[in-house]
Amino acid sequence: MSDELIEKLDRIPDPASGKGLHAAGRLDGVAIRNGVATIVLKVGADESPEALKQSIESAAMALPDVERVRIISTLQRSQGEPAAPARPRQAAPAAKKPAKQVIAVAAGKGGVGKSTVAANLAAALGKSGRRVAVLDADIYGPSIPRLFGLLDTKGLRKTDTGIEPADAHGVKIVSMGFLTKPDQPVVWRGPMIQGAIQQFLNDTDWGDPDVLIIDMPPGTGDAQLAIAQTVAIDGAVIACTPQDLALDDARKAMAMFEKTHTPILGLIENMSVFLCPHCGEPSEIFGHGGTRAEAEAMGVPFLGEIPLTIELRERSDSGRPLAFDEGAVADAFARAAEAMLESAGEARKPAPEIVLTD
Ligand code: ADP
Repeated sequence: MSDELIEKLDRIPDPASGKGLHAAGRLDGVAIRNGVATIVLKVGADESPEALKQSIESAAMALPDVERVRIISTLQRSQGEPAAPARPRQAAPAAKKPAKQVIAVAAGKGGVGKSTVAANLAAALGKSGRRVAVLDADIYGPSIPRLFGLLDTKGLRKTDTGIEPADAHGVKIVSMGFLTKPDQPVVWRGPMIQGAIQQFLNDTDWGDPDVLIIDMPPGTGDAQLAIAQTVAIDGAVIACTPQDLALDDARKAMAMFEKTHTPILGLIENMSVFLCPHCGEPSEIFGHGGTRAEAEAMGVPFLGEIPLTIELRERSDSGRPLAFDEGAVADAFARAAEAMLESAGEARKPAPEIVLTD
């Protein structure tokens, strides 16, 4: 099956050498599994591979057993050059890395609980003894101040060592919400966002945390892309709810990160089942399991399910994320946080030089 696909792909000329893609050594892996063709394509640092990707997709879709095509770009290295994570060309060089791991929590649309997930993943990591920081980049509706009880924090202080982050339950926090008045939406354009985020990341005295979580703005427009291009993100977690429409949006979010060569660490299904506060009986209000199936189809890790609970909603207003404490929901966040870090560890390994077979 894969041989047939390789043969087809080899009929597409490599723009640089004129040879077929296979002969030119541009294919790092080719596999067809469950109707999904996965092609790992080596991309030059200065190359814009969109046209090539389209030709690859058409060639693969022409095979009868292919229903969907997934193209993974890896950075093509010249001989002797060390393995480095692929970074977008537009990314400005960061002065220093703000944390050992920088992880973005994103969602294809608003209201799926992205900020709740981001705050509780941070809390779960803090509870486990990691040093954690949160950058709230949700310019449209920053909810991190409320989630961490920082609604009274206004403005940011600059000391000799840099911008001083707020501290909530041991988590270092900088939020766009500290700079804007509630109910006064700010219109941010791409360059302004890039400038502000870059300043927050580089000039804040984060104190070398193990993990910095970025709560991204919801959606997949220019603002989101601007942030993904500005920050050296180690990986992205996509929050979504089980409905099909939310999954469509999650796919768009994944595609956006693929544009900036950011590894997808996994999907989290939020509001998975409703847990009745009286009897504990689960009800599948929005359906259940769609995200896991989607993750499997897309070949990305599934990090876990967070139930829909009244307690979680109430605690969102209390200023102390639930995952700091004990209980079933806190455990679900703890498992998801560990799975996320495990996935980040995998993502940091250099791209394997192997050919996948089916
Ligand atoms: P987003 O960041 O995606 O816009 P939020 O995290 O602000 O979403 O969540 C939207 C609303 O849904 C908030 O009121 C929040 O408390 C609530 N919420 C989020 N996840 C859950 C959940 N699993 N159970 C109950 N309420 C939730």
